[in-house]
Amino acid sequence: MAEALDKVQKKCKDMVMENPYNKLGFSKDEAIEALREIENSKKRNGLICICGHSVKAHYNARDRQVCSVAKQDCPCSKAEPVIKVQNARYFLKKTEGGGVYHALGQGIAKLESEGYTWEWYGEPECVPCGAKDVELYPVAVNEVGTEMNEPSRYNALVCVECRKKI
Ligand SMILES: [Zn+2]
Ligand SMILES: [Zn+2]
Ligand SMILES: [Zn+2]
Repeated sequence: MAEALDKVQKKCKDMVMENPYNKLGFSKDEAIEALREIENSKKRNGLICICGHSVKAHYNARDRQVCSVAKQDCPCSKAEPVIKVQNARYFLKKTEGGGVYHALGQGIAKLESEGYTWEWYGEPECVPCGAKDVELYPVAVNEVGTEMNEPSRYNALVCVECRKKI
């Protein structure tokens, strides 16, 4: 019994150890390189709105502007570019909070994890106080200016001091 088990275990081990690429016409590196090449060919430089989505996702529907991305309708009321990115198609996230949880923060993280870069579009400033030389957080706010943890019509960059007050 123990001997039979040993045999089975050895067989399983041999299966795992065998390199599946030995019987595949391309290597792992070649496959990864080709995938990168395909993704690069679809690369779309673009501007990203403060809502965290491509400016191109915004369009006029009847009398109002809407932002439509992947599986959600973002309530952003007006495209307002804040950053310039190498690949706008990674900005499809949904706002779950402020800062890194905002769609803009999540999109930047996704972009970086895919190996692309971004830069500010113009000089960013805190919307409530106008400070420029400060760290800024993207936040969704409601009609009366209180921070929300879900997508909103209104989004803004705010400094840490102003964020405490909203
Ligand atoms: Zn927007
Ligand atoms: Zn949006
Ligand atoms: Zn401020």
